[in-house]
Amino acid sequence: MTERQVHILNGVPASAGIAMGNAVVIDTRKIDRYPKIRLSEDLIDDEIQRFYQAVNASQNQIEEAKSALESQNIAREHIFILDTHLLMLTDPALVDRVEELVRKDCINAEWALKVALQEIEKDFSLIEDDYIRSRVADTSFVGERVLRNLVGKKTGEFHLQENSIIFAHDLSPADTAMLNKNVVSGFATDVGGVTSHTAIIAHSLEIPAVVGLGNASTLVTPGDRIILDGISGVVIVNPSESQIDEYQNRARSFQSMELQLKEKAKEPAITKDGTYVKVKGNLEFKEEVHTVLDHGAEGIGLYRTEFLYLNRAGIPKEEQHYHAYRTVVEAVSPYNTVIRTLDLGGDKFYAALGEAKNERNPVMGLRAIRLCLKEIDIFKTQLRGILRASAHGNTSIMFPMISGMEELQRAKEILEETKLDLTREGIPFDENIRVGIMIEIPSAAVIADLLAEEVDFFSLGTNDLIQYAIAIDRGNEYVNYLYEPLHPAVLRLIQFTIDGGHNAGIPVSMCGEMAGREIYTPILLGMGIDTLSTNAFAISHIKEMARKLNLEKCRTIVEHIFNMTTAAEIYDFMTNEIMDNSNNIFDLT
Ligand code: PEP
Ligand code: MG
Repeated sequence: MTERQVHILNGVPASAGIAMGNAVVIDTRKIDRYPKIRLSEDLIDDEIQRFYQAVNASQNQIEEAKSALESQNIAREHIFILDTHLLMLTDPALVDRVEELVRKDCINAEWALKVALQEIEKDFSLIEDDYIRSRVADTSFVGERVLRNLVGKKTGEFHLQENSIIFAHDLSPADTAMLNKNVVSGFATDVGGVTSHTAIIAHSLEIPAVVGLGNASTLVTPGDRIILDGISGVVIVNPSESQIDEYQNRARSFQSMELQLKEKAKEPAITKDGTYVKVKGNLEFKEEVHTVLDHGAEGIGLYRTEFLYLNRAGIPKEEQHYHAYRTVVEAVSPYNTVIRTLDLGGDKFYAALGEAKNERNPVMGLRAIRLCLKEIDIFKTQLRGILRASAHGNTSIMFPMISGMEELQRAKEILEETKLDLTREGIPFDENIRVGIMIEIPSAAVIADLLAEEVDFFSLGTNDLIQYAIAIDRGNEYVNYLYEPLHPAVLRLIQFTIDGGHNAGIPVSMCGEMAGREIYTPILLGMGIDTLSTNAFAISHIKEMARKLNLEKCRTIVEHIFNMTTAAEIYDFMTNEIMDNSNNIFDLT
């Protein structure tokens, strides 16, 4: 047996914790480069045979994956998806059509498959029924599998045993949400940034993760022993015994520190000079609500409802919205739950809402409120669910990605129409439900004073605000180095938003990842932020940080850093002068 290679890889820490286990490598890259080949008549039969071999191989792989899932007692709906894929591999619209195209046009099977899939997608997009239309995603998935077998690449399967550490070029938020927490102890991706939605889901599931690792998924061999440090972003492949000992110690001290913090997590965060700092939690799945509350959340500052749409067949019905929101609102009340209306698009692509798929630049495309204002029925269905849930506890509504006044006014109009419908139908809801917006597009930050007149609260979405202000894709590892919350332009946008909100008498919170990093807490409190909402893991850390601070001194710090010209200068000041030095803002007297 050849000796396994040792590698130390550095990436971006995306979800804290130390995981040890064995590598499982999955290939998630799409095959989008293959030639169109014109075949001579005598090669046609062989080509068709090659296609059917690929279909057979695909069937065998799916059967194998299905038995693996069955033996792990995985939920029936995941197995059902595989059954659907098997059925599609016998569908004449796919299989017979490819054969026909190869024969008629004398082209290679890859190209014929591509044409057949495009035709199917087009047909699906015309179908009225939501459920059937949503199955287009399955068709592409099956098509991709056959394609891989055609070009000789085997699809990686999730053969998961306990302590699996997943390596992939990339994982979509939907893939990540499917990971079974009981067997997956960590994951590592070649691409991605700290605020990608994949990283956010990892946080939410409390699975340690490192992203932006370059070519880790090609370097690692299935079965390699792995140490994954989601705190520092280091991944060690086939570590030595001494490295294993060292990391076991680190994992133990990390866990005991977390335990200590968690014990105090439910106590309020009061600064040294007596100001109460409200810390709420962000939520992606209704099932996680008790975990977030256990971590000390004083309400939900951001419920990302779009995850209701992913990994399911069809668009959720009003009842599904209502039940999900009601479960959360009832668990969180008397604290408030801010339910954000759907923010699909960008990296959270949902096949059932087909159009967005072919956008050249989805992050700047038909995303979030733009999509809702186009698909008003979908929007109203969700609003009805939220409003009905508001009858059961303290609820607020928040619109994402507002770029200007017209959009906000239109969204509010639709909300009013929905309220009117419910009133006519005699369905109860909270008539005074508070309505807020995310400030996550620079144009909104710059007119925060105007928008503030129209809403009850603001919440700063720094993940997007930074992406759009500095013009860097938040999920792109090549420009990660530019993703800088301390950029003076970002700080000014934040300050402008806080002032705009406060001058109009409304509170301003922050629910982007910046709210969950201790180094920024003194700055944000000094700028006047009212509430910080973070992933569950960070809540206890932020509370503990706030307890060490003196608010007056934080304000002085802010005055000081607003005279600085670069993020590096501010960062150095915060780390050297503030965090480490005894002449600091921590008022320990
Ligand atoms: C943000 O942009 O900061 C935010 C909280 O929203 P999301 O991460 O879901 O885009
Ligand atoms: Mg956002």
